[in-house]
Formats: sequence, C-alpha cells, structure tokens
Amino acid sequence: MSKTLQAIRGMNDILPGQTPVWRYLENTFAELLEGYGYQEIRLPILEFTELFARGIGEGTDVVDKEMYTFRDRNEESLTLRPEGTAGCVRAVLEHGLTGGGQVQKLWYAGPMFRYEKPQKGRYRQFHQIGVEVFNLPGPDVDAELIALTARLWRRLGVADAVSLQLNSLGSSEARARYRDALVDYLQQRFEQLDEDSQRRLTTNPLRILDSKNAQTQALLAGAPVLSDFLDEESRLHFEGLRNRLDAMGIAYQINTGLVRGLDYYGRTVFEWVTDRLGAQGTVCGGGRYDGLVGQFGGKPTPSVGFAMGIERLVLLLETLAVVPETLEQPAHAYICAFGEAAELAAVTLAERLRDALPGLRLLVNAGGGSFKSQFKKADKSGARFALILGEDELAARVVGCKPLREDGEQQSIAWDALAERLSACVEQAQHNACMGKE
Ligand code: ATP
Ligand code: MG
Repeated sequence: MSKTLQAIRGMNDILPGQTPVWRYLENTFAELLEGYGYQEIRLPILEFTELFARGIGEGTDVVDKEMYTFRDRNEESLTLRPEGTAGCVRAVLEHGLTGGGQVQKLWYAGPMFRYEKPQKGRYRQFHQIGVEVFNLPGPDVDAELIALTARLWRRLGVADAVSLQLNSLGSSEARARYRDALVDYLQQRFEQLDEDSQRRLTTNPLRILDSKNAQTQALLAGAPVLSDFLDEESRLHFEGLRNRLDAMGIAYQINTGLVRGLDYYGRTVFEWVTDRLGAQGTVCGGGRYDGLVGQFGGKPTPSVGFAMGIERLVLLLETLAVVPETLEQPAHAYICAFGEAAELAAVTLAERLRDALPGLRLLVNAGGGSFKSQFKKADKSGARFALILGEDELAARVVGCKPLREDGEQQSIAWDALAERLSACVEQAQHNACMGKE
C-alpha cells in the first residue's frame, strides 16, 4: 500500500474558509501602509545561503538550526528565506535603490521557512508582513513604524490585547563593551546556566538575555544591564523615540532583556506582545539595523524595519472574536435553468450581465437538476435572488426573479432590463433599495 500523501509537518494549507480573514488582514495592512507612503516590494523566496549566513549571522538560532538549505542541480547552496530583511537589503543594493542617500519606505508580504518545532503559533512555513525603511537615521521614523503598527491594532480591534516592549541596543561598540561585562558575570556562574545558554556564552551571549529558562532568568536579575552601557548618541536617539511615543500617547514598557533573535539589530528594538496566545505571544518584532547594508558591501545606510506573523494575528483575531462578519459576501443572484435551451440562454445572459456589472457576484447553476434541487442550491448559496429560466421564461425572454432572503413574490423581468434592475443590488449590497424594492 502506498502511503497517503500529506503536507509537510508545520506547513499548513490555508483553506477557503480561512482565506477571507487572511485577505482582510493583508488588505487592511496594505491600505494602511499606502496611507503612510510605503511601497510594496516582491522578493524571491529562494536566495543563496550565504545571504542569510552573512546577514542574519552565524550563531543565531535561525542560521544555526532553523534554515531549509539544500544544493540545487548546479551544486549551489540555496536557502528558503527564513525572514525578509536580508533579501530586501540584497534587492535594494542590487538595484541601486538606496544610492545617493535615497529614502526607501518598503513593505512586503509572503511565506517564510524555519525548521522549528511546530505548535500553536509556530510553524515551518509561516507568513509575514514586513516593512523596511532605508536612509532615515532619526528616531522620527522609528516612531512612525511603531505608530503605524499601533494604528493597525486599532483598525483590527486588537489594541487592548497587545502591548509594546521597547529597548535600545546602543551602538555596536557599546554592545561589545556590554557583552564583555555580561560574559564576565556569567562566566563566574557558568555551572548554573542552562545548556543552551552555556553554549551561547561563546557563540552569542546577548541571546542569553531572552532565555526562557527560569534559573537562567533568576541569574540574570543580578547581571549588568545594557542601558548602563549605552553610548551618548544612542541614548539621545532612544530619548527622541520615547518623547515621540509619549507625545502620540503610545504606551510602552522598557524591557532591558529584549535583544531580538537576529544579529543585525542595533539601537531601537521593539516587540508587540500579547498574553492571549500562550507561549507564542510575539505578534510583531523589529528594530534598527544600521550596520547591515555595510555588511553586504554597500555604503553605510541607516535602516529600520519590522515583521509581523500573519498566523499569530489570525489566531488573535479569532481568539478575540473580532473577525468582521461581512468578510464573505454572498452572491447577488443565482441563475437556475431548466433544459438545454434555457441553459444556453442562461450562460449568455450571465456573461452579458457580467459585462454590464463588473461588481456583480453571480452564480450559474451547473450540473442541471430538477426545479426543487436547483432552487435548494440557490438558497444554500446565500444568494439574494434566484433568477429562474424555464421554457415559459425563455419564450417570453424574461427571467423569474424570486427573493431568497426576504418575503416577496416572484416577479418577471425582461432580459434587457435585468442589468439595470440588478445594478442597485451591486451598488448597495447591504441595502434594501434593490430590485425595485424601496
Ligand atoms: P519567536 O521569538 O516567536 O521565535 P522571532 O523573534 O524568531 O519570534 P522574528 O524573526 O522577529 O521572530 O519574526 C517576526 C514575527 O514573525 C514574529 O514576531 C512572529 O509573529 C512571526 N514568526 C516568527 N517565527 C514564526 C514561526 N515559526 N511561525 C509563525 N510565526 C512566526
Ligand atoms: Mg524564532
């Protein structure tokens, strides 16, 4: 017996029942971003492995443990993108989009791949919407990114369920000084660290700060804190950001343990977290990465961005029951036709109606069937009207129009008048002034 074919674990089908909420999220986001002057960029899903190794950094979980990497037929090492920033930076450099200090405000959406342990809110193929801004060095744009995410939460109706965590990682020199102090402190307590943190002490010590291990966290309570090591410029930058957030009335908590998983961050880092999703509580994370473009061989280019996880947002909308009810729009009309001649008339009529009314949602019965069965399908489809074409209607060049969602007699409407009569429904789907009903 052959094995039943199944999707790869942690890679989910998004079924028709779920796509409306996905589109709602994506459309809400795209509309909001356009309102702030951001432009969409679309990037490949596969890149050379080296891009991520250099960009995200060896010693990070993503690069060391989570990448889908393979050799193609030409023996090139390729990787399914685990995140969007590295590819975006590669693209702007390759196309000279940031040359001469040009400002770019970009957004993207799409699947990302990480070999993680699948669980609620954590998958191996997941989707992000992300934003990257280039050549704006100040805290003003950091504040704008946070303001627009705050607005998104309000639009989606989840603002009360998320909160903002903020930190500054300082300059790379400040981070290096801090790293030394932290390593010094932890080295003396090496035996008390969990195994992962012991390993990270040499590979990526700052990552120990967001260890989930309770004993390690307790140990960190007495450790040196990064904010005491900040350089003056980073301190002013952070103050500028906080002043702006205060002015806009955006609440935040300073979390000195927030270091983010990827190596390229410096200065501002932030996360939007929720306590409604269990362990996978970060819905959006980002920060400044002024050093990354340089690391890829470009001119030093101030850069800042964030990414949010669509699956976690969908879960949050569902948990909070704030998915709008009107996402799935039923058809305006369902055409029932009886006999071959009527079926022919139905398809031609339907195509003419679609020409006249591009916004029309029209279902044409397929597969024949008795009056009763077609009428039942029309009703089940949720359509507002059944349009009936039998022998008599065919002879008189009319359709019988029967309201399905409200009381009302069946009316005869001439084919030539039908588009005009349906136009009111298309324009005012939710309104009663439809098909002659005032
Ligand atoms: P986490 O700490 O939850 O692993 P991360 O710091 O690795 O998150 P980022 O690389 O900053 O995540 O990605 C941005 C966002 O993408 C996260 O805040 C989260 O909402 C989402 N995300 C990250 N990894 C996954 C995953 N495996 N499955 C679903 N969503 C994810
Ligand atoms: Mg992760």
